[in-house]
Amino acid sequence: MSELNTVVIVGSSLAGLRAAETLRLEKYEGRIIIVGAENREPYDRPPLSKKVLAGEWEAERISLRKPEDLAKLNVDWKLGSAAAALDTKNRIITLVSGETISFDGLIIATGSGVRKLPNQPDWKGVHVVRTLDDSLNLRADLNPGARLVVIGAGFIGLEVAATAKARGCEVTVLEGALAPMMRGLGAEMGQAAALVHADNGVQLRCDVKVVGLVEGSPGAVGGVALDGGEIVPADVVVVGIGVVPATQWLENTELELRDGVVCDTTLNAGVPGMYAAGDICRWLNNLYDQEMRVEHWTTASEQGAAAASNLLAVSRGEQPKPYAAVPFFWSDQFTARIQFLGRANGDEIAHVVVGSPEERSFVALYEKDGYLKAALGVSRPKQLMPFRKLLAERATWEQALELVATFVAT
Ligand code: NAP
Repeated sequence: MSELNTVVIVGSSLAGLRAAETLRLEKYEGRIIIVGAENREPYDRPPLSKKVLAGEWEAERISLRKPEDLAKLNVDWKLGSAAAALDTKNRIITLVSGETISFDGLIIATGSGVRKLPNQPDWKGVHVVRTLDDSLNLRADLNPGARLVVIGAGFIGLEVAATAKARGCEVTVLEGALAPMMRGLGAEMGQAAALVHADNGVQLRCDVKVVGLVEGSPGAVGGVALDGGEIVPADVVVVGIGVVPATQWLENTELELRDGVVCDTTLNAGVPGMYAAGDICRWLNNLYDQEMRVEHWTTASEQGAAAASNLLAVSRGEQPKPYAAVPFFWSDQFTARIQFLGRANGDEIAHVVVGSPEERSFVALYEKDGYLKAALGVSRPKQLMPFRKLLAERATWEQALELVATFVAT
């Protein structure tokens, strides 16, 4: 790799910002350019389905950094024009505006974009939640008494459902899988963690097949059609059926794309000086001996820093470090604070070891082949967090139970 004089970070959200901060923290004095599709400085996304949507926080509150701290970073911002193409050989990026940017080092942090229903109409009342504008537009439609139908009982769907219910909407959630949050938590624990929705009057219907949206008054949504002919009436519909890594601009390059940018253990994307971080990064996590892609805040933040650090290390002739971390996420739904450590692939056995789903407060541990693989806490942060260390040490199931015994003893 040539000398590092210009680093381009594509993606101006959390992972991109953390990458820039880490470069400066580690004494990189060259040029940093951050390219962002949205014409906004970095902001925090978790409040988009919670405090901002609830109307409790205004937009200014979710800036990730104060203007003076951004200024100190000494970054050239290219906001409002997405990257359109990458030439890995000549190390040039082309933006949608036509502008080209040459670089020595590259950090790919373009995240993901929402998945939509096939032929999803652009009617009034139909929403997705990914950007600040999306959240503000939805908020304007969540009036007391409005009938909201959420498609997808993942994190967006259930957080939006809880917020909308608190705003006085009638809320129905339609999920294709057998249980809510099934991909993240598994079926049994997904059901258990989502009990607060029924408690609060949200209608949660799993194992249903949405066939499309139905028009009400001209140009406005009126309902959601299910397989079998039922129409669920709706004034507002939120489509929260997952995301797709934003790799379009990397097609026809030598980077390997497979549901994300395929990276090694150090987040290197297979070409010297090119790294990926955040939702878009599919990397080999040594801790699990498994390739994974994680769509959560903590991973984006940590990977942004790790990618920048490794880019600098290699340019200085030092060894890059593997990024091998215990994935972590949280989700606030009504009074439940759901926190999850590790990774569940669906073939583990989940044991409730503290509290119980009936109390709406518990810790469950996920076991496979005699090892602890993951831990879920619902409104039990104190008892959950000690399992992070055990997961990082690849603890056995026996060691996990020893830790549980100390809770019971105290
Ligand atoms: P998600 O967590 O992947 O959940 C999407 C859900 O929709 C899945 O249960 C999926 O089931 C279901 N689904 C897919 N197609 C469907 C259909 N046609 N009809 C009904 N259900 C369908 O994604 P998300 O909730 O949309 O969230 C988007 C992104 O934001 C994710 O990356 C998420 O991690 C992130 N986010 C994170 C948090 C947090 O960490 N607290 C909060 C909000 C958002 P299948 O899995 O079977 O496809």
